[in-house]
Amino acid sequence: MEFQYWHPDREKIGREELRSLQLDALKKSVAGALRTDFYGKRLAESGISSADDITSLDDVRRIPVTTKNDLRAAFPYGMLAVDKSEVVRLHASSGTTGVPTTIYFSRNDIASWSGLVARSIYSTGCTEADVFQNMITYGLFTGGLGFHYGGEEVGMLVIPSGPGNTTRQFRLMRDFGTTVVHATPSFLLHVESRMRDEGVRRDSLSLKRAFAGAEPYSEDARRRIEELLQIDVFNSYGLSEMNGPGVAFECQCKNGMHLWEDAFLAEIIDPDTMETLPDGETGELVLTTLSREAMPVLRYRTRDMTAFYTEPCPCGRVQRRIRRIKGRSDDMLIINGVNIFPSQIEEVVMGMKEVGNNYLIIVEKDGFLDRLTVKTEVNAETFKDDSRKLNALREKIRHTLQTTITVNPRVELVESNSLPVSEGKAKRVLDSRPRSW
Ligand code: ADP
Ligand code: ZN
Repeated sequence: MEFQYWHPDREKIGREELRSLQLDALKKSVAGALRTDFYGKRLAESGISSADDITSLDDVRRIPVTTKNDLRAAFPYGMLAVDKSEVVRLHASSGTTGVPTTIYFSRNDIASWSGLVARSIYSTGCTEADVFQNMITYGLFTGGLGFHYGGEEVGMLVIPSGPGNTTRQFRLMRDFGTTVVHATPSFLLHVESRMRDEGVRRDSLSLKRAFAGAEPYSEDARRRIEELLQIDVFNSYGLSEMNGPGVAFECQCKNGMHLWEDAFLAEIIDPDTMETLPDGETGELVLTTLSREAMPVLRYRTRDMTAFYTEPCPCGRVQRRIRRIKGRSDDMLIINGVNIFPSQIEEVVMGMKEVGNNYLIIVEKDGFLDRLTVKTEVNAETFKDDSRKLNALREKIRHTLQTTITVNPRVELVESNSLPVSEGKAKRVLDSRPRSW
């Protein structure tokens, strides 16, 4: 395989060189942060009053962590490190876990962010010859404009289609010979079902690749999309607090996401003890911006659970890879005392070929107990089968789920395309249990 590097001077350097670059950048971030109301106070409390108080990368641990609630409390301008006149754009998080947070960008911030997304896109093998259909929400959400600017920087033809309206998506794909798309994995699965329903022939399209991210998905879901659409799917990870997309991305090897460590200082910690974990162990990812002017964010607790790979990647990049994100620590469901990540359910469901492309997890109170129901779509051919076969399938899913998650769920089979599809992040869990007890 021939690897291509967008920023060889950043991607192909030695580990020591990277570390010294990180230290310089960390000091700049701390200097910027000290100019903000929020960090001015926070850092002073920890005895940091100047960037020179940071003399090694380990000193990052002297800085207190930042949470989503800190960003909310500092709203609107408490974390701004430059004059308002230097801000050229704002974005907001999706608000999956509460009130959205706002992020500000200077002109340089937009340029470095676009560079990181361009680097990510290029590392998958795309070039300026590609036609890129960006099937993700534009607007406050970072995924739309983030990929748009990155795609243009690579020199691809970018079609800002946004999500939704699959009939129009197919028309654009055919009219302009789209070779690569970006979408949430759930929307890609939906696109595939609609392709069959609308009778769109695969050979009428020129698709080769897809970037899929913004929400957790399993390796089985990736394989399913790849097989059904006959494309390569690359995992894309980012969060608005760290610009948006372009934080970590899979290269041509499609085995773990390179975290762009020259732009973000990454730690993986035990979320309970806050201790740093050695490479290979799973914990919460904590990130510090290393190249952001308008709004430096120090030691941000992402809540995302992952681990560093211990092996270097065959592509030779210096930046370490992280594993597929299992979900956020706050996604975890506790059902009758048992901890379950929705991704565990997805792995079972997406691993069965009779199962369709969408599913929904429902958690309710039944007296004092919690009740878990998993609704899964089954593909049209299977749905036509007689009830004995459908019952057997339902029992197979129930049994496999029970052995995997140790909770006995109810399983309901529904027709394909009958469960709600979201244009943004999929809502896979409906939890109607009262929260406050
Ligand atoms: P919100 O935090 O409100 O959802 P963001 O748009 O900033 O808003 O979303 C960032 C979050 O989305 C990440 O912290 C992570 O939980 C999730 N996410 C993004 N990309 C991926 C991915 N490839 N795999 C799993 N989760 C992802
Ligand atoms: Zn690689």
